[in-house]
Amino acid sequence: MTNFTHPFLDLDGDKLREECGVFGIIGNSAGSNMAASVCALGLHALQHRGQEAVGITSFDGAEFFTSRGLGHVAENFSSAESLAELPGHMAAGHVRYSTTGGAGMRNVQPLYADLASGGFAVAHNGNISNARKLRQELVQKGAIFQSTSDTEVIIHLVATSRYPTMLDKLVDALRLVEGAYALIVMTPRGMMACRDPLGIRPLVMGKLGDATVFASETVAFDVVGAEFVRQVEPGEFVEVDFDGTVRTHRPFGVISPRPCIFEHVYFSRPDSIFNQRSVYASRRSIGAELAREEPVEADLVLPVPDSGVPAAIGYSQESGIPFELGIIRSHYVGRTFIQPGDATRHSSVARKHNANRAIVEGKRIVLIDDSIVRGTTSLKIVQMMRDAGAKEVHFRVASPPTGHGCYYGVDTPERSKLLAGRMDLAAMREFIQADSLAFISIDGLYRAVGLPGRDNACPQYCDACFTGDYPTTLTDLALKREQEAQLNLPVGKVA
Ligand code: SF4
Repeated sequence: MTNFTHPFLDLDGDKLREECGVFGIIGNSAGSNMAASVCALGLHALQHRGQEAVGITSFDGAEFFTSRGLGHVAENFSSAESLAELPGHMAAGHVRYSTTGGAGMRNVQPLYADLASGGFAVAHNGNISNARKLRQELVQKGAIFQSTSDTEVIIHLVATSRYPTMLDKLVDALRLVEGAYALIVMTPRGMMACRDPLGIRPLVMGKLGDATVFASETVAFDVVGAEFVRQVEPGEFVEVDFDGTVRTHRPFGVISPRPCIFEHVYFSRPDSIFNQRSVYASRRSIGAELAREEPVEADLVLPVPDSGVPAAIGYSQESGIPFELGIIRSHYVGRTFIQPGDATRHSSVARKHNANRAIVEGKRIVLIDDSIVRGTTSLKIVQMMRDAGAKEVHFRVASPPTGHGCYYGVDTPERSKLLAGRMDLAAMREFIQADSLAFISIDGLYRAVGLPGRDNACPQYCDACFTGDYPTTLTDLALKREQEAQLNLPVGKVA
């Protein structure tokens, strides 16, 4: 008999969360009042990058208009009335999952300010790792902040820059900034899009008729019918005027890039192209590499849905072990589900994910997941498979152990809450109660994304959450530790 010990199991709960997605459009093809509509559609395709809040700012040649709201894109921008409030042929938008600054309307982007040089709107994906220090310096000089978002620091730095052009002001501001940023900026003269010198967060550029579009991922171009042109290069500033002129600048020179390798593993949608590679193909290759590195005798390969599916296909194809769906997702269990009384609360109908007993019972199974964060969900999945009659449950993970926090715009629990931050492999296996547990190696992950392995002298990606090798200084972290050390006054032993 099925033991319903995990009635509300939600496999999406224990993941690292990419915090933002951005989309921008400038040009006549958008139509005089259509830029915001295209922007809303693009943001809808990026909804997986942030579900907490959404905002769009448009410009009609004279004025800026902003509309922001909590919740999903469709809840805020699906009606003609909501989009009619955003006229113009330039618009930029943002979907957000709050990291720095916390939740709340005042942190919902795009942020807008009237500067001496004119209106300035910015949508930011990433995290500024010295925002706290910069903010303290700006406040000491008299700056008054409206939000607690790190992005507002950029506005203040631009506002106080003494350079004459907006491009130079922005470059001047960003020279002071550490960390990760993919920005879309709107001014009365046009749009600018740029990435930090290491290109940690993604940003791509496309064409929609005469209009130029920017987005966090190529999938947004597919959805709005735009053509993918290229990625905005790490450290590149792209300026687009209203007449369609595109200018590109590399003010920081060319530095070896370090894009986030976790985009290949989990953050990007599988139908996107990231760093010149199909995300789906990368994930399948990761699964194949994992099968070569960590084989196991089993009857079935089962993905942990949905993100484990491409890697499980790769593992199955490489190992020859059949692929099956052993965990089924209900698409009708939402937050608004009215919790029934005790008698029915344990009904399998209420489950977001349920074991497919007919497939699992009596079988030796290999579960494939993209990552393990706290491990609590992995434990529940293993238990669910055993409850459904699995004879052996082996766990294979399509990324190396996540043992370190991310300071580049990804919501990570503190290290003490990361399973790999506090346990070795044997203890992790015991914790999740699997018969065996193995992760892809860091070199295996690099091989799966088309490289010979990790170049330890000059790593090709940011992989800090796996290796602890951060590609930038982490000024705020050091500052926080210093302040905490000052607060924790040493107290002598009381006899
Ligand atoms: S620390 Fe991890 S999640 Fe954060 S940017 Fe680097 S690879 Fe990506």
